[in-house]
Amino acid sequence: MSRLVVASNRVAVPQGEGAMPAGGLAVAVDAALKGRKGLWFGWSGEISQREATGVHMIEQGPVTYALQGLSSDDYDAYYNGYCNRVLWPLFHYRIDLMKFDEGQMEAYLRVNRLFAQRLADMIRPDDVIWVHDYHLIPMARLLRERGLRNKIGFFLHIPCPSPDILGTLPHHLEVIGALGHYDLVGFQTSADRDNFDRYVERYLPDRAVKTAVFPVSIETETFTLQAEEAVHSDFVQEIRDSLGGGQLIIGVDRLDYSKGITNRLEAFEWLLEHHPEWEGNVTYLQIAPKSRSAVPEYLEMDQFISMKMGQLNGRFGSPSWTPLRYVNRNFSREVLAGLYRASDVALVTPFRDGMNLVAKEFLAAQDPEDPGALVLSEFAGAAAELEAGALIVNPYDTHAIGRSIDMALRMSVAERKRRFVKSMQALEGNDIHAWSERFLTVLEDRRPETVVPLQERKAAGASNSGIAYETPRPRIAASASQGVRAEQA
Ligand code: ADP
Repeated sequence: MSRLVVASNRVAVPQGEGAMPAGGLAVAVDAALKGRKGLWFGWSGEISQREATGVHMIEQGPVTYALQGLSSDDYDAYYNGYCNRVLWPLFHYRIDLMKFDEGQMEAYLRVNRLFAQRLADMIRPDDVIWVHDYHLIPMARLLRERGLRNKIGFFLHIPCPSPDILGTLPHHLEVIGALGHYDLVGFQTSADRDNFDRYVERYLPDRAVKTAVFPVSIETETFTLQAEEAVHSDFVQEIRDSLGGGQLIIGVDRLDYSKGITNRLEAFEWLLEHHPEWEGNVTYLQIAPKSRSAVPEYLEMDQFISMKMGQLNGRFGSPSWTPLRYVNRNFSREVLAGLYRASDVALVTPFRDGMNLVAKEFLAAQDPEDPGALVLSEFAGAAAELEAGALIVNPYDTHAIGRSIDMALRMSVAERKRRFVKSMQALEGNDIHAWSERFLTVLEDRRPETVVPLQERKAAGASNSGIAYETPRPRIAASASQGVRAEQA
């Protein structure tokens, strides 16, 4: 089997024997590299005052971690600037927050060129290359310019909006058009893939781009085992004891405007206003580690949410009951798993989310005999797989979220079990190992026809596990030209 080379913005080097990296992408890449020789290349997380230094290599078993530093100027302009203030809002349908700056675009392309050069030096002819996420979109084009002929695939972890939105990005062909240079571009949902296909039709009519759907997932079985154990820990027991017999609602989100935390707070306010019977009987724990604090939009949101939390506790709380608990800390996977299992309801209500792994983690952590209920935004990628089991809400409709919370808190155990079984069917059929295997199978042309088109599954009356992986639709263009417009000009 050929060596797998992964490129992503950040690299998570395992911290000790058997220790799992924390974030969603890290777990996903770790799973992809398991069982085969591999190299994982990306930013080390280090920032230096001078020009970026050379690549630092760490060998661990069959995997080599290749870490590249960034200069502080590049960190500001490439990461805080173009990635987090241009591409992130754009892909999350927030063009009102997009702050385009030509210098930052140059920095994005410069860092990608640096990464491509460093990576190209390490590539062997039969390596398979898998590039992850919006930070490194131009990598395939830049590697091809350096003469590489390897298979190169790309997976977009975040949503993909329509060409009307993508087209608002100044010089979009230079960046988004560069996706046309991959052998395979993978998306979280068929809606994302369809949007990109329409972008190609409109802006890259001479290109045949192979696209497919691979909803990212979690280590379902491991997470269930962790939750079973962690729910008995002193930490989790203390939390349950502190509820005085009341129910626990949990929210776990990076502090990001795409996650819909503000509307969730309004929904909780609506619940306490309209259902005073919950006073003293329900606690909402919101875990929200801070992220991207150097970006002004994140700071503003941080301040607003802290203020709102205080206001609501002041208005509804009593000396013996705090309705909202707000925590900005990070927790281990075990503690998080235990907290999910100890919770009665999870609120996952992003305005827009590529997938949302928290929704899947919450379900995997539940006790099948007494599972919690999931309130899930229709605009999270996870809704495509979990619509049959979750209470699906429109995150812009705060009263509807409030009503769904009320319904979830009152739901009978029989109904919760029925919904849980439906959700778990989707999760068990598509864990993180299946996800990476499916992507690589299609990229490497091993068994390209094993994935069943969604339409066919629906037509055959298959249970709607919602796993929307579909056969790639290579669109063979009439013209043989392989150029992207931006380059032809
Ligand atoms: P995003 O990738 O946008 O942050 P996801 O929901 O897809 O959103 O993934 C978030 C990941 O980060 C999940 O695996 C979740 O468990 C983890 N996570 C979120 N908050 C914390 C926290 N406070 N401590 C540890 N892990 C966290």
